[in-house]
Amino acid sequence: LSKQAIGQFRFFEKQMNRTIYEKIHMERELRKALEAEEFELHYQPQIQLQTGKVIGIEALIRWKHREKGMISPNAFIPIAEETGFIISINEWVMETACRQTKLLLHQYPSLSVSINLSPCEFESRKLIYKLAKILEKTDFPPHCLDIEITERMTMDTEKAIPILKELKNVGVNVSIDDFGTGYSSLSYLKKLPIDRLKIDRSFVQNVQKEEEAILPAIITLGHNIGVKVLAEGVETELEAAYLKEKQCDEVQGYYYTRPLPYGELVQFLDQHKQQ
Ligand code: C2E
Ligand code: CA
Ligand code: CA
Ligand code: CA
Repeated sequence: LSKQAIGQFRFFEKQMNRTIYEKIHMERELRKALEAEEFELHYQPQIQLQTGKVIGIEALIRWKHREKGMISPNAFIPIAEETGFIISINEWVMETACRQTKLLLHQYPSLSVSINLSPCEFESRKLIYKLAKILEKTDFPPHCLDIEITERMTMDTEKAIPILKELKNVGVNVSIDDFGTGYSSLSYLKKLPIDRLKIDRSFVQNVQKEEEAILPAIITLGHNIGVKVLAEGVETELEAAYLKEKQCDEVQGYYYTRPLPYGELVQFLDQHKQQ
């Protein structure tokens, strides 16, 4: 790596003490990227364990930078959240995910697309309004859209419940992402109008270790409050078999496939079609 390349990489790293000038510069870069259509969505299939069927796809953003190549969301989403530009980015994500998935619904009518929303987007009611507008514009069935929000955000239940209720009114589904990492109060979980828990990858990795008791406990907890449970980051056949035995509903991970560009997703769906 050249000195310049290292400098550019650092530029996108999450930093604790970025100056206001750096933030302005980064926001300008993100804005240019959006205008130059340098963002794209990759999709990771979600599989129902009992049937092996693909029941959903998660949209994950990528930045194809003209000079720096592919930039991972971990390198720019935190900056976008800090500057507020995430709102523009996620508007693009919502619309693109609906538009691209809509093209698949003729062949796969029960397919659902998941999108990730950042906690800061729930600060204003504009989100619900914008979401409804995009659903209308793309003529997308709301029940085929799943909104992933992190457990962090739902921990402030007083704030979260009204927003979740509004989302349910629009007709979309809601999943709690990275579940298990935020230590949310379990008694409040019942009160949240949600459809699914997504168990964080860290619990799946420890399947064979001392934390073994946690994973089945989360699955049972989810079922007791009447929601589906999806395990993230499944990388081996062993993990998949274990989760199936523990009655986990759905899985997602490299064992099945990495997130795929749209064209490859179409091929994947075709190969995994079941009559
Ligand atoms: P996340 O929502 O928890 O997404 C799961 C991440 O795990 C993805 O990383 C995915 O590629 C990766 N992954 C999937 N299966 C496996 C596996 O088997 N093993 C391992 N080690 N990793 C796996 P990715 O795409 O780099 O996204 C990172 C994070 O960036 C996401 O975490 C999400 O929080 C955020 N993000 C991605 N796209 C968007 C977006 O459109 N909007 C917002 N607000 N955030 C996004
Ligand atoms: Ca997610
Ligand atoms: Ca996650
Ligand atoms: Ca995450």
